[in-house]
Amino acid sequence: MTGGAPAADVPREVFLRAEGTRFEVERVEERSLPPGETRLLDHRPAANRLTLLHAPAAEGARGADALGRATRERLVAFVRAEAARFLPEALFAAADEIGAPRPPRVRIGMPRTRWASRSSSGTISCNLELMFLPRDLVRHVLLHELSHVTHMDHGPAFHALLARLDPLSRVHEAALRNAVRNYVPAWIRP
Ligand SMILES: [Zn+2]
Repeated sequence: MTGGAPAADVPREVFLRAEGTRFEVERVEERSLPPGETRLLDHRPAANRLTLLHAPAAEGARGADALGRATRERLVAFVRAEAARFLPEALFAAADEIGAPRPPRVRIGMPRTRWASRSSSGTISCNLELMFLPRDLVRHVLLHELSHVTHMDHGPAFHALLARLDPLSRVHEAALRNAVRNYVPAWIRP
């Protein structure tokens, strides 16, 4: 590793605040893995525990505690899979609750600067980092996108509708501006 910011440590837990589940993370050396390889074992339903198996060779300058790229990819894939299950369900529930049509398609991505977006065809794309946010903020983001079914822009009519659906709309908007710093763990953003 040459220069740049030091790598994050392997997290000791993954807390998916949106669904209220904590996963303990343990690292175990597995001699049969080729160098640089990692595996992730998900112990559910027996336990909310993830085991990262890593090859004996250290991934970074600081050894087994440093979060290498392969390990990070395993953890991101885990969060993505959770998001692919949780966020469409939450979106459909919010749509049903407010009487909006369910989106024809829900995509899960990881853009740097957006929580969610809606295409002209109605597909709603959700940032998997939403999984780290409190549930009321996630709900606000989903209601925001569902409000775009009626109003494409962010004009006064859009905000009036959103404020009807979420009476704490302004509070939640303000909280979302600090949500990366407050809730999203550093390890997922290299
Ligand atoms: Zn919008």
